[in-house]
Amino acid sequence: MLFKKCIYIENTLKNKKETTIILDKIKPENIIYINHYKDILNQSGGNWRFQKNIQKIVLAERKDNFYYKGSYLTPNFGYDYFYYNTLAINCLYDCSYCYLQGMYNTPNLVLFLNNYDFINETKKLLQNNPNQQFYFAISYDTDLLALEYLYPYCSEWINFAKEHHNLTIEIRTKSSICAITRQFKNINNVIFSWSILPEFLVKKFEPATPPLENRLTAINTYLDSGFKVMLCIDPLILIPNYEKIYSEFIHHINQKIDLQNIFKISIGTFRMNKDYFKKTQIQYSNNPVYLYPYNKFGNAIGYPPTIAENLINSIVKPLEKLYNNPIEIYA
Ligand code: SF4
Repeated sequence: MLFKKCIYIENTLKNKKETTIILDKIKPENIIYINHYKDILNQSGGNWRFQKNIQKIVLAERKDNFYYKGSYLTPNFGYDYFYYNTLAINCLYDCSYCYLQGMYNTPNLVLFLNNYDFINETKKLLQNNPNQQFYFAISYDTDLLALEYLYPYCSEWINFAKEHHNLTIEIRTKSSICAITRQFKNINNVIFSWSILPEFLVKKFEPATPPLENRLTAINTYLDSGFKVMLCIDPLILIPNYEKIYSEFIHHINQKIDLQNIFKISIGTFRMNKDYFKKTQIQYSNNPVYLYPYNKFGNAIGYPPTIAENLINSIVKPLEKLYNNPIEIYA
């Protein structure tokens, strides 16, 4: 739960327009000015899960690292120029399989308010490489669409993408907020990418996220507004009776949305950086995600190849009969 009574703000952001707008929305009882967001984000010794119940907001300014080259664990969708950025750190949601729990010491939500610097630096990159097609995942260590009511990151990036045809942006989300569809229509270099799982897994592993049905309704709204939509059925988790559950899930989705209108589908099994996994595992004594004896693959953990293949097939087989566009697989 977002703790709105107290907000941390970097000294350099005092009196800035972006800060005032957020303060007007949150109306905190207490403001604490700090030198650097890492003083709050990186506090050590606390209990991550306990702190998530009183998640603090930190308003910050990013000075460097306005984008990164994509990691090998992340889908690059065939783009050699695949990048991501961190406009915000940490997430409003609380998925138990999320790598953020191992990546940062605290769940405090950092919002970088100098989005214009991120956009300007990206613009320079595009201008220096006019013949290359860039793919930017902009909702990377967070769920950006869920934060749109606090800061209009998605709208500002869609406006930027509209003017730069060698850029495709991907906004991954579990949100069901549709306000953007009233603002923009038929933008073909913006992909909204919904992570979806069967509803009982949403309840079990993704507390605080919108129910599957709300996401499917949002997907139809974005499709009707001419956005490209991708479905990420990820992470597939090994559960009893998974073949039947995942197969029924595909048939259910097919009843709710016209799969032929979906730009792309990606499917992935649960996998995580092994250090993040180790750090997160100790916070969950009874969660099936953390009880499985995973294999190690280089710097990551994941299901043994046969299990991963069976999980993937439980989705791909029913899907192949219903969907003709590309399916990306990550296991
Ligand atoms: S929505 Fe994504 S980023 Fe947010 S907690 Fe869930 S998995 Fe993590």
